[in-house]
Amino acid sequence: DALGPTITIGEILVEIMATDRGTGFLEPITLIGPYPSGAPAIFIDQCARIGGAAGIIACVGDDDFGRVNVARLRADGADVSAISISAEFPTGSAFVRYRTDGTRDFVFNIARSAAAQIDLSAAARALIARSGHLHVMGTALAISGTIEIIEHAIAAIKARGGSISFDPNVRKELLGQSETRARFASLVDIADLILPSGDELFVAAGVTGESEAVRALFARNASEVALKRGAKGSTVFTRDGRRIDCPAFAVEEIDPTGAGDCFGGAYVACRRLGMPIEQALTYANAAGARNVTAKGPMEGAGTRAELDAFIAMTPGRSR
Ligand code: ATP
Ligand code: MG
Repeated sequence: DALGPTITIGEILVEIMATDRGTGFLEPITLIGPYPSGAPAIFIDQCARIGGAAGIIACVGDDDFGRVNVARLRADGADVSAISISAEFPTGSAFVRYRTDGTRDFVFNIARSAAAQIDLSAAARALIARSGHLHVMGTALAISGTIEIIEHAIAAIKARGGSISFDPNVRKELLGQSETRARFASLVDIADLILPSGDELFVAAGVTGESEAVRALFARNASEVALKRGAKGSTVFTRDGRRIDCPAFAVEEIDPTGAGDCFGGAYVACRRLGMPIEQALTYANAAGARNVTAKGPMEGAGTRAELDAFIAMTPGRSR
């Protein structure tokens, strides 16, 4: 991390979840929360917990939902200096209830919350000026105004010789808008490392077929693609033709939310700490798998010692 910390930009939320499975929120039900959440926050928390230098540019409200998030990130070692506090808007939130088939009902308060008030403050500029890597979360493209800050950070970090990663987890509906689609494509063009999950690989590459899509990404700027396969593990492809498969760890899935973000946080942190792909990928798989065993989006994020213990005691899933 000689060039400086890994940073990300985007939403901090609390998640409040129904304790039982079912449909919707149309009658009183038992809820549990607030849990610290938001894809960029989960990513950066895992990045910090595993020992990477990490920071986030975000905004929370002047309320307990904001304080619970900032306290968690600070305790886990993330740089919280560029999290601004809105006097006007409450912290963003997501209420979630799992249906019996594993899909989810949500009530979001993001677009009109503090999460949408991110700005290029003096603290944000200072953090960008000392960082060595930007991780762009596709979810942040849903928030108006965030892309301009991301573009500023890309230019500044590239100018310092830093690198960029991109998780193309953008809601499909958003890619129906030509402006968002163009921005999405330019992020794919500029990223050194792309971390798609499932079909996001084809959306990012613009072609179907795994090897065709990976080849299309290497024809752009990427030198590594880390493909997430849920309970089937993951694969890293490199521009020089290597393919490293990592089977999933066998765990009982309690709450799948945040697996991909923890995977990414661990992978980026470990690569930036100088680990070879195989070792970084093992930690990333462990981070994703461990996180699904805990209720709450980032409750299962692990320190390096916790992940070493998890790896030692958890068998691989046979394929
Ligand atoms: P999310 O579902 O949070 O949006 P994602 O779709 O981006 O995440 P996933 O592929 O679901 O990413 O999960 C990331 C990684 O976490 C997987 O590649 C795998 O290593 C691990 N993982 C996820 N779910 C499981 C599971 N049920 N069992 C074991 N490992 C898992
Ligand atoms: Mg998933």
